[in-house]
Amino acid sequence: MDFAVPQELEDYYAELTRFIEDTIIPLEQQDDNIRFFDHRREYARTDFENGGLPRHEWEDLLRQSRKLADEAGHWRFSAPKKYGGKDGSNLWMAVIRDRFAQRGLGLHNDLQNEHSIVGNFPFVAMFEHFGTEEQKQEFILGGFEGTRRVAFGLTEPHHGSDATHMETVAVRETRDGVDGWRIDGEKMWITGMHVATHCAMFARTGGKAGDASGITCFLVPNPTEGLQIEEWMWTFNMPTDHPRLSVTNVWVPDSAILGVEGRGLALAQSFVHQNRIRQAASSLGAATFCVEESVRYARERKPFGEELARNQAIQFPLVELATQCEMLRLLIYKTAWDMDNMPHEMIEKTISDKVSMCNYWANRLVCQAADRAMQVHGGIGYSRHKPFEHIYRHHRRYRITEGAEEIQMRKVGAYLFGYLGPKRGMYG
Ligand SMILES: Cc1cc2nc3c(=O)[nH]c(=O)nc-3n(C[C@H](O)[C@H](O)[C@H](O)COP(=O)(O)OP(=O)(O)OC[C@H]3O[C@@H](n4cnc5c(N)ncnc54)[C@H](O)[C@@H]3O)c2cc1C
Repeated sequence: MDFAVPQELEDYYAELTRFIEDTIIPLEQQDDNIRFFDHRREYARTDFENGGLPRHEWEDLLRQSRKLADEAGHWRFSAPKKYGGKDGSNLWMAVIRDRFAQRGLGLHNDLQNEHSIVGNFPFVAMFEHFGTEEQKQEFILGGFEGTRRVAFGLTEPHHGSDATHMETVAVRETRDGVDGWRIDGEKMWITGMHVATHCAMFARTGGKAGDASGITCFLVPNPTEGLQIEEWMWTFNMPTDHPRLSVTNVWVPDSAILGVEGRGLALAQSFVHQNRIRQAASSLGAATFCVEESVRYARERKPFGEELARNQAIQFPLVELATQCEMLRLLIYKTAWDMDNMPHEMIEKTISDKVSMCNYWANRLVCQAADRAMQVHGGIGYSRHKPFEHIYRHHRRYRITEGAEEIQMRKVGAYLFGYLGPKRGMYG
């Protein structure tokens, strides 16, 4: 057994660090861009008078840093080589995301908009696996060139975790001699619709409520007649780009189907593991950052004339958090490594529970660590002059989205009790 991080990965991370220091930090410091990261961050990012959407200057800055990262060969790291990427593995991505988050807030990695100079591209994998040749060309290459942006339209006002009960329906309808589908329903929380050129919209085309089959994914252009943004949902961490949508008499041709008719949920499920392990690594990194900042502060701050760190009431909660970070790092790296060493379809069958363990524990841990950091820092910890409130408010979201904590635990439970996974059938 060799637990060492591979030397090539250490070398690449050193190159990334140089790129951040030489290119990204100067951009962050330029033209008061630091307002997006210091105590003014929420106001600087949010156009409160315009639905609470992200300000253009904020999104322009993110775009500019991604462009620089792409030119330097980093942004597409995790994408396939044929699309200009480096086929970056799950292990490498986990280590990079963990260490990026350990650096604290910055333009190199700000996940509020899923932004990082080393990108995560769930749609690339989805199109690569399920798209037609034309769809691959249009959406994968267009995605990298910035001409295509696809939002993910699964959740509805009355159905989130239970997507198989969705009420949005699509029925066959020919218009002007072209075979296609009419879609009606409602969607909610469809992130990025303010800039999306398309929504990958899931709708029931057959079967009955509760069936996993009979749901189809349609690439609906945005805007389209009948697709209406009803409101922007204001969230714990602003800005928002999460609307509630109505879908009324929306029509798309047959060619808008992504994947196989009636098998849309397979798309939604196919790359959750990659996302979940990367998210876990980011939360772990942010948790570690909170612990380390607290340690540093506790060694400096001297209430009652001696270092705060001398008190075990300060030490022990941080010891518990540091212990969990160490244990979790091993589990995340090992799980990512396992994912890299098996065919994609085996992940769901054999180690999906481990991915869920990493995910829910890391997302919970970072919230605990951010809360503890605020406590150790006292008044300044509660202020926006420290990053902990932002970390808490952003990462708190992950306990609900991408499969909520309970949904991850449900998966672990199903493996543990032999309803799914390698122990299936063991208990009769
Ligand atoms: C900021 C944000 C961005 C989002 N972006 C998108 C997006 O881009 N596209 C998209 O399709 N969706 C998106 N979502 C929706 C997100 O995926 C759902 O909110 C999530 O799946 C939970 O669904 P729900 O809110 O309907 O909660 P519900 O499913 O109603 O669940 C409510 C609570 O009950 C728990 N629960 C549910 N079932 C069980 C059970 N069997 N046992 C125990 N507990 C259970 C849940 O974990 C949750 O805590 C986003 C949500 C947010 C907040």
